[in-house]
Amino acid sequence: VNGQKTWTTLGQYGEWIFCLVRTSNEGKPQTGISFLLIDMKSKGVTVRPIKLLDGECEVNEVFFDNVEVPAENLIGEENKGWTYAKHLLSHERTNIADVNRAKRELERLKRIAKAEGVYDDVRFRDEIAKLEVDVVALEMLVLRVLSAEKSGKNSLDIAGLLKIRGSEIQQRYSELMMLAAGPYALPLIREAMEAGWQGDFPGGVLANAPLASTYFNMRKTTIYGGSNEVQRNIVAQTILG
Ligand SMILES: Cc1cc2nc3c(=O)[nH]c(=O)nc-3n(C[C@H](O)[C@H](O)[C@H](O)COP(=O)(O)OP(=O)(O)OC[C@H]3O[C@@H](n4cnc5c(N)ncnc54)[C@H](O)[C@@H]3O)c2cc1C
Repeated sequence: VNGQKTWTTLGQYGEWIFCLVRTSNEGKPQTGISFLLIDMKSKGVTVRPIKLLDGECEVNEVFFDNVEVPAENLIGEENKGWTYAKHLLSHERTNIADVNRAKRELERLKRIAKAEGVYDDVRFRDEIAKLEVDVVALEMLVLRVLSAEKSGKNSLDIAGLLKIRGSEIQQRYSELMMLAAGPYALPLIREAMEAGWQGDFPGGVLANAPLASTYFNMRKTTIYGGSNEVQRNIVAQTILG
């Protein structure tokens, strides 16, 4: 195997990696891709962590230089990898919707807004209310998809829609929390904090502090798992027709 994969989340800790590798140039581009399981300790695999805007190394570049992989590590049939990957991706996209986290973060947003006094601002409260309505609507949609799946219907075509709405919601609550916290939203820098540079935290809660880094980190959600623009194309083709 030869090639490069950028943005491999937490790949620096991985022992194994699933790769979609081109094994044939015949037919449509989607065919001729195979699903391989590769041992990260194989000769020729190099992992280079990427430092992101929030200061963390959450993603990596992985390089493959003449990596030899045993034939038994082929998953399913040769050249059918994209079919398997599409199925897994639809589960990943449903998972990205992350309604439970949205509900938890919504409550956290309300706590910060109350502690900082902006909850009394009717325009700010409107934004929280709109967000809450969208979170409830997303939850209903996810439950409908799960119940359809349970009764054997394939409703995972809608996964792209869940991903779009879920990721937009994640960006909205991280932005509202940062707005509510104002200067307290500065990234948590422990050394600076110990030196007395950062002062107090909203509501006196330490965990409220790194809101700006969360805001920056959440920029990824409309890109990863398939960008939202591409998901809109898929929704248009498969659901709207
Ligand atoms: C933080 C992060 C973590 C990630 N983790 C992983 C991981 O663990 N494993 C993994 O395999 N991948 C991972 N990815 C990769 C991720 O899935 C891709 O970055 C994503 O699917 C977008 O693909 P791309 O980067 O090739 O962008 P491109 O496809 O080059 O897109 C660039 C821009 O063009 C737009 N665009 C492209 N095609 C169209 C079109 N047809 N119509 C309209 N607009 C279009 C896109 O919306 C985007 O704005 C991660 C990415 C990020 C940012």
